[in-house]
Amino acid sequence: MENVFIYSDEFQDYHFSPDHPFNQLRVKLAFDLLNKGGFIRESQIRPPRTATDEEIALIHDQEYINAIKQAGEGKLDKQSALQYGIGTEDTPIFANMHEASALLVGGTLTAVDYVLEGKAEHALNLGGGLHHSFKGKASGFCIYNDSSIAIKYMQQKYGLRVMYIDTDAHHGDGVQWSFYDDPTVCTVSIHETGRYLFPGTGAVNERGQGAGYGYSFNVPLDAFTEDESFLYAYRNVMHEIAAYFKPDVILTQNGADAHYYDPLTHLYSTIKIYKEIPKIAHEIAHQYCNGRWIAVGGGGYDIWRVVPRAWSLIWLEMNNIRDVSGMLPLDWIEEWKDKAVVPIAMKWEDPDDMYKPIPRKKEIEEKNYLTVAKSLHIIRNNMKNIIY
Ligand SMILES: [Zn+2]
Repeated sequence: MENVFIYSDEFQDYHFSPDHPFNQLRVKLAFDLLNKGGFIRESQIRPPRTATDEEIALIHDQEYINAIKQAGEGKLDKQSALQYGIGTEDTPIFANMHEASALLVGGTLTAVDYVLEGKAEHALNLGGGLHHSFKGKASGFCIYNDSSIAIKYMQQKYGLRVMYIDTDAHHGDGVQWSFYDDPTVCTVSIHETGRYLFPGTGAVNERGQGAGYGYSFNVPLDAFTEDESFLYAYRNVMHEIAAYFKPDVILTQNGADAHYYDPLTHLYSTIKIYKEIPKIAHEIAHQYCNGRWIAVGGGGYDIWRVVPRAWSLIWLEMNNIRDVSGMLPLDWIEEWKDKAVVPIAMKWEDPDDMYKPIPRKKEIEEKNYLTVAKSLHIIRNNMKNIIY
């Protein structure tokens, strides 16, 4: 069965302002890297559809959707805009913002339908992954929460149990709160601790509520966490949760902002984690879900050095291509190097001496180790409650 790559140049219409850190050019850069490397066949590329109001309303209030439409036409006053979380420095108003946002959501729904109708094994929508927005409020560059909508859609249309895996450096708060009391959706977020980073939530003790208690997991990592410690947390927690929850389908959010170069976060990972993250997701998909795996993008603010490679690696993993190394396709470098505002990435690997050793390395690793131990303890307790 083929895998599908959801793509349209119209993803560029989700655009706040020229100097805003959220820049969808990264989707084009990743797509172009894969194309020039000869890793995507024409037959695997599918355009996104536009999500209907009814679909968006699976999560968002109609009143909020109307406000986004009005804002995009320049018809919403400043005071009301602020109530809906838009018109802020983080999430400014832009022309036709409803249409642009509905296309990102539709892209994720297109990916879902391909996989769940059995027409694709895995599907990737790098235009999606906007995990911060809430029912009636935009937040952190996110207008409509495509992942939350897609999960509701999978529940209603297909009746499936969904595991949502979020490896963005920021807590996947919007998705977590959407399903906080729902035992048929398991959300897992690994992120930099909210102590100094937006959105501030995502502590280990956020575990769900009511019937959903025991189905929300958070692994907050210390600032300056490096590859080994990140992957230790991810591997251990992910395998245990998958064994505990036994999902029918997995949806992964692949923010690429845990990298050392990322300007908005303080984690110290390298490109190595972006090879490993989709690999483990892929294993889980085949072990529990008959391969059903939908992946979306997310954060990622070093668009010239990090995101194109990190996101390409998701697609390469989906297609069992694991031997890329050395120089990136030369025509890709040629195409983009003069447009890049920093020296563009030239190789699949990061430079060896990318950053100076961290003096507090051991202390950070120990802290993360304890956090993971706490998470594992919670998972095992949950399992006991189910078995006995
Ligand atoms: Zn992020």
